[in-house]
Amino acid sequence: MIIPIVTYGNPVLRRECEEVTPDYPELDVLIENMWGTLKSAEGSGLAAPQVKYPLQLFIVNSLDSYQYMSTANRETYFDGDTGIKETFLNARITEYGTEKYWDDEEGCLSIPGLSEPVRRSWRIQIEYQDREFKPCIRTYSGLTARVIQHEYDHTLGKLYIDYLGGLRKQLIKNKLQRILNKKVHPKYRIQ
Ligand SMILES: [Zn+2]
Repeated sequence: MIIPIVTYGNPVLRRECEEVTPDYPELDVLIENMWGTLKSAEGSGLAAPQVKYPLQLFIVNSLDSYQYMSTANRETYFDGDTGIKETFLNARITEYGTEKYWDDEEGCLSIPGLSEPVRRSWRIQIEYQDREFKPCIRTYSGLTARVIQHEYDHTLGKLYIDYLGGLRKQLIKNKLQRILNKKVHPKYRIQ
């Protein structure tokens, strides 16, 4: 089932999300539906609050980006890995690498029609549980690490536009207002 994605202005996007436990009702169905929703929206990541569940749960697909990219772009955006398709539960980024930062355009399915450059760490370390609640500690870099940082922020109630400077914020004000007024109609279902 495809779930409509909530957009900028919905308070669920500003909540600090709760831990997920294995007895959470129909968690498997929710995760399946999130994957279906992400696919239909052609996104590279989706966090549970974006479909109205304030849970520490997000999914990342950087594998498709890798597959559709030119060789030159792969060298720019990837760092030895070929992308991932992974479900993250109760994640915590334990280290933001300080050796390299990079700026790149980011968008968000909850902020349709907008993309802005955001500075992120090239490398991160993250502790989380996978779909089967198996504890994992992993290091990711490049585009995969960027998507993870973006989705992880969602579970803290943070949006990428929070990182923009005053001038950029001023420049996107009208676009955000149009989203608030429900005047933006992306190809995927929103609510
Ligand atoms: Zn987002």
